[in-house]
Amino acid sequence: MIIAKKSLGQNFLIDQEILELITNLTSIEGKSVLEIGPGTGNLTSLILKKKPKEFYVIEKDNKLAERLAVNYKNKIKVINEDVLKIEENLLFSEKIIVFGNLPYNISTEILSKWIMSIKNDFWFDCLILMFQKEVADRIIAKSNSSDYGRLSILSNWKLNIKKICDISPKSFYPRPKIDSSLLLFTPKDNFYPIKNAKNLEKVTRIFFKYRRKMLKKPFNQLFDGDQKILNKLKIDLNLRPQNLDFETYYKLTDEYENLRS
Ligand code: SAM
Repeated sequence: MIIAKKSLGQNFLIDQEILELITNLTSIEGKSVLEIGPGTGNLTSLILKKKPKEFYVIEKDNKLAERLAVNYKNKIKVINEDVLKIEENLLFSEKIIVFGNLPYNISTEILSKWIMSIKNDFWFDCLILMFQKEVADRIIAKSNSSDYGRLSILSNWKLNIKKICDISPKSFYPRPKIDSSLLLFTPKDNFYPIKNAKNLEKVTRIFFKYRRKMLKKPFNQLFDGDQKILNKLKIDLNLRPQNLDFETYYKLTDEYENLRS
């Protein structure tokens, strides 16, 4: 018998309708697939039915990884590791479809890591991921809303994001205390050319340190009150961080990189 480990965010998806919906979001046949945290294999079994060419899974739990390797012998490649330690962009030779009912305690860390790992080329075809609803709301938020922030700006930089649906705790075992949301991410054809993604993280960290305060302080900290940048980007320093749209943060990061080059 499997006892779900809270420390590994183990809430297994047991709702057949949702499992089918997830595997019908993209065409799998003949493609390479990666599943993060397959757990007891509920989603794994359905993905296999769709005949992927290669199928990798990353599972940190030793016992579950062992069980998966036995149950799906020769059908999947089990990587018994912490997903945060894997360099997916180096691991796969062709673009891969990624599925994951992610462990909620590290879901934003996983997504941020993947976005930071995209260089010129995307290593994935699409990401089909489950988050806790509150996190998904932050990922898809637009400017001038209370959920808008660093995660929205980073996620929307290189990815198109589509919310598929919300999912109730009843669809999981054990039942989590929160609602979940399923998101589909696809690569953007064009995205703002920032040289180093760490600079976008830095700029947004400084701007969103005081999200209720006016922009004056963080702007002065980064740009020493440079009026030319304010005029060029049409920024009003009396506004608050959440009032600047995605593009303005990407442009601010560009200016920050120019200042330092
Ligand atoms: N995909 C399964 C399902 O839907 O039934 C399980 C999803 S459960 C929310 C999260 C899974 O991720 C668990 O199997 C857990 O052991 C695994 N996990 C947790 N932390 C992990 C990590 N750092 N790296 C890889 N897998 C992890």
